[in-house]
Amino acid sequence: MNIVIAGAGAMGSRFGIMLKQAGENVILVDGWQQHIDEINQNGLKANFNGKDVTEFIPAYNQNDLSDVDFSADLVILFTKAMQLDNMLQSLDNMLGKDTIVLCLLNGIGHEDVIKKYVDYDNILLGNTMWTAGMEGPGKVTLFGNGSVDLQNLGEGKEDVAQKVADVLTNADLNARVSSDILTSIYRKACVNGTMNGLCTILDSNMADFGDTSVANPIVQKIVSEFLAVARAENVFLDEEAVIEQINGCFNRETIGLHHPSMYQDLIINNRLTEIDYINGAIVRKGKEYGIPTPYCEFLTQLIHSKEEIVEAK
Ligand code: NAD
Repeated sequence: MNIVIAGAGAMGSRFGIMLKQAGENVILVDGWQQHIDEINQNGLKANFNGKDVTEFIPAYNQNDLSDVDFSADLVILFTKAMQLDNMLQSLDNMLGKDTIVLCLLNGIGHEDVIKKYVDYDNILLGNTMWTAGMEGPGKVTLFGNGSVDLQNLGEGKEDVAQKVADVLTNADLNARVSSDILTSIYRKACVNGTMNGLCTILDSNMADFGDTSVANPIVQKIVSEFLAVARAENVFLDEEAVIEQINGCFNRETIGLHHPSMYQDLIINNRLTEIDYINGAIVRKGKEYGIPTPYCEFLTQLIHSKEEIVEAK
């Protein structure tokens, strides 16, 4: 299958490497020139579960695709949320009438952006439990296991979703077709919408935040805003189960000592965050539905304030 990885950072590189290793015809499209040059000159390098691997996958700058002759069967979107619109504009020439587009970004509401460029029937929404880290240009770290859930937006397109899931599973990416992807997306957004912003603003790992006397009431307020908006979109989640999942992040024996990815992006690397597509999306949708979202709004504002203070780019 001809596959474009659109956004070849940490996660795009993981999917690119694993799909290439499974024999798919893969190209990478990205906006970071230094990363692209490194990949084209020396290959895409990964510490893959402790083993060094190098894959030679052609990489192109999204702003220079006019001469690229590649008829894409599948585009996998892995930009950061704020880069998505620009990436889709750049890909315009590669999106044929049968090109399937799978979105695996974290956050809520990406389908509203994608459907400006892609036929509704060709859009797959997904959610992934895989992780990946960027070491530097041309180099990523890939540890652990994961899975992908995906679903077709267009009615009667389950066969298309299954075909894509089969291609991913053949590359050991463990994909399955879901019948309620929005529930998984909202559930993950609740975890990100609490842990990411709070630990970033509080300069804390998840366990230390979890041990504070106000962790539970703050988490509860934020989750209740997410779930109220989800309900307005006919997505129903069990509040107790969501909170239990978030409480799992506080466990020092498992992942509690980690800082969430937003912390790495903003505090360590001074990069802009995806807050507008997590808590910020809840604020926007809350306004549409007449649902108050003061905790999400305040957290979004605090993160933007921090972005300005550290001059994030
Ligand atoms: P990433 O930051 O590694 O890459 C996203 C884009 O930013 C790529 O185009 C990349 O080239 C560019 N980029 C990265 N570092 C850069 C730098 N120093 N200078 C300039 N450009 C740079 O993002 P990601 O972690 O691959 O995440 C992509 C999407 O997947 C996001 O929506 C994220 O929330 C989601 N996600 C990530 C993980 C994870 O473990 N990383 C897990 C699940 C979902």
